[in-house]
Amino acid sequence: MILVLLGPPGAGKGTQAKTLAKELKLPHISTGDILRQNVSSSTDLGMQAKDFMDKGLLVPDALVTKMLTQRFSQPDVRNGFILDGYPRNLNQAKTLEDILKQRKMFINIVVYLEASANVVIQRLSGRLVCKGCGTNFHATNMPPRVPMTCDNCRGQLYQRNDDKVETIKNRLTVYKNEVKELTMYYHKLKVLHRVNADEEASIVLHKIIQLAQQYDDPNKV
Ligand code: AMP
Repeated sequence: MILVLLGPPGAGKGTQAKTLAKELKLPHISTGDILRQNVSSSTDLGMQAKDFMDKGLLVPDALVTKMLTQRFSQPDVRNGFILDGYPRNLNQAKTLEDILKQRKMFINIVVYLEASANVVIQRLSGRLVCKGCGTNFHATNMPPRVPMTCDNCRGQLYQRNDDKVETIKNRLTVYKNEVKELTMYYHKLKVLHRVNADEEASIVLHKIIQLAQQYDDPNKV
């Protein structure tokens, strides 16, 4: 099963993808996570990407695509994966199709998580992420038991650089400029489903699982 999650920052793509990966026993591939790992270990890629990320802009397609191709060459993707954060524009969508075609793989389902701007700003401006295991918390909606400490692994929580209100607004503008073409593209390929992501995470998850269950999986080996 290849399941792609589209949606604005703050729609819950990462949260849903993590749970779906466990439920469906598939790897979760997040281009944002891979980029952040590269930034924190100061790789060449991380140094080239950092400025774009801090400003809420897209990292150039060539860099992200190279990174994704490397990830796809690992054996765990053979039975499919949950893709979160890619594609962000039409060019990336076409590149993804080419990469998958070479591997005789197909996207089964694209879930577009639709969330309103005020919900997104409220979610992201309070988001706290664990440095250790990546679990998300929220300063008011889902606070950790001990301030700034992860309930799961006791790791330290931090606010992402790009979760400041001004940067969130930039990320939303960038997103709006690209999403229309992307959804039209996947609509034509008959794989697009829209889910209201303003709802609670457990309701959204249930809807995505129901959608995923409708698909026979041509990727299964
Ligand atoms: P995310 O964690 O998906 O919100 O991504 C955080 C940041 O990483 C984005 O604001 C972009 O700067 C960068 N990024 C993640 N995925 C992509 C992508 N597919 N194309 C370009 N930039 C990306």
